[in-house]
Amino acid sequence: TTAPQKFEFQAEIKQLLDIVIHSLYTEKEIFIRELVSNASDALEKLRHLQLTEKEIYDDKLELEINVTTDDKAKTITLQDFGVGMTRAELIENLGTIAHSGSKAFLKALGEGGQKNTNLIGQFGVGFYSAFMVAKSVKVYSHSWRLNEPGHVWTSDGSGSYEVEPSEGERRGTKIVIELKDDCGDFAEDWKVKEILERYSAFVSFPINLNGKRVNTIQALWLRNKKEIKDEEYTAFYKFQTHAAEEPRLRLHFSADAPLSINALVFVPKENTEKLGFARLEPAVALYCRKVLIDARPKDLLPEWLRFLKGVVDSEDIPLNISRETMQDKALIDKLNKVITKRFIKFLDEEAQNHPEAFNEFYGEFGIFLKEGAALDFAHKDQLVKLLRFESSLTEKGKTTTLADYVSRMPAEQKDIFYLIGPNRAAIESGPYLEAFKARNLEVLFCYESVDEYVMNNVREFDGKKLTAADHADVKLSDLPQPEGALSEDDVKALTKWMQETLGQRVADVKASDRLVDSPVLALNADKFTSPHMRRMMKAMN
Ligand code: ADP
Ligand code: MG
Repeated sequence: TTAPQKFEFQAEIKQLLDIVIHSLYTEKEIFIRELVSNASDALEKLRHLQLTEKEIYDDKLELEINVTTDDKAKTITLQDFGVGMTRAELIENLGTIAHSGSKAFLKALGEGGQKNTNLIGQFGVGFYSAFMVAKSVKVYSHSWRLNEPGHVWTSDGSGSYEVEPSEGERRGTKIVIELKDDCGDFAEDWKVKEILERYSAFVSFPINLNGKRVNTIQALWLRNKKEIKDEEYTAFYKFQTHAAEEPRLRLHFSADAPLSINALVFVPKENTEKLGFARLEPAVALYCRKVLIDARPKDLLPEWLRFLKGVVDSEDIPLNISRETMQDKALIDKLNKVITKRFIKFLDEEAQNHPEAFNEFYGEFGIFLKEGAALDFAHKDQLVKLLRFESSLTEKGKTTTLADYVSRMPAEQKDIFYLIGPNRAAIESGPYLEAFKARNLEVLFCYESVDEYVMNNVREFDGKKLTAADHADVKLSDLPQPEGALSEDDVKALTKWMQETLGQRVADVKASDRLVDSPVLALNADKFTSPHMRRMMKAMN
């Protein structure tokens, strides 16, 4: 056929186009990401064909993507020299809804109703997203096959499209979008540059915008780490995070099972939350084969890892369902598990191999590990091992692990003891420590306001209870007694006298085996309110 032929869109496509065109969706710019992603797929397919096929149409063309804008005509054009489409493929691929991204989108819409139209951004409705900004879309294409003529596919998105032959096409696909009047921005070089840099900076084929290369930063995370210099990592980190400083730690790893993952994550120099800035937002971006899926995916990592920056690329996700994956909780959960486990292992290794660097990291970011130990049940055990505390046996400024503490425990000691206080001096001069010191029992020192909460949630380590040394329940009677204790009768007489004298002001008076140098000690009889908590409550009135 040489004359233009008119076709109706499939019913589902009509429905989709109706939503795409009429929704007040704000992130219209993602149409560029979608079309670049399609161009990149087409080039990737051609690269494979070049390995297996002898004859390819127009075989000398560069594998690149050219974007051009015309702010007078209000058009944007995206051209790739990829596999292209035959007439039949144009009709099949752009006229029916065989691909899963849009299908999933429609399904989600069905479940959530019209208000879910903002899902467009998450799913990407692929090629059809062009109609968010287009008065008309023309797709010129020439297949890589030798004996297929070129064609042009044309539509204004209103129910039908036309296909007719087109002479002189190069291999691949050229999409010309005539922009709607209120979308003229997308014909501006600066605007498109910004969008390409944001979404497609790491696409592996060159992207030229009006003749200038845009994506010069390589997908570092996919390269062999033995061949990457520290400076390259730093440059990438600074690009990605807009940071001025070098990262504190970095982990670059790949995994094949249960998912294929390439990840490059960084710990920044400073914990900005500690400096009083706002709560950190997720900043490990999710890519699928170098195409950005989501710069700030919410569930890719557990909350307590929100200080991490970087990139996770999972090529296991077939590109044509990549948009769907953000809805695919199971897949994200799996990624989450693999990355979290690997990062904890990395910290473990750091602690062993570079204790100084680890301790500095801990000083800055330890609070996140505590948060994880208290709240992330799945990783609690591993995280507790990473916690560090000063203790009655460490020097000021030096810390111990719980494992080391346990290794020093005498056989008679059942619990792990800790004391909470504002600082070392306060705990050491307080009345609670002396009974433990006199018995040579080590006590962990906790200075941070979250510590009590953490200790209560963690509860035990290595089968040993974490016990506040100032708690009324603490029984020291099983342990060796200091010398010079009063006789039982004297004790009775003394406590009776004190009880009568103090009256209502105390719940009970008991002889204590805790005191060594101090004559008397006020104890907390209520299991649920510690002195520390009472201080907090008093401070809050
Ligand atoms: P998806 O990319 O998820 O398959 P799209 O709506 O983005 O869905 O694209 C639909 C189909 O159209 C693609 O699967 C592909 O076969 C075809 N297609 C789109 N753009 C191009 C292109 N630039 N070159 C070759 N084929 C393309
Ligand atoms: Mg696509």
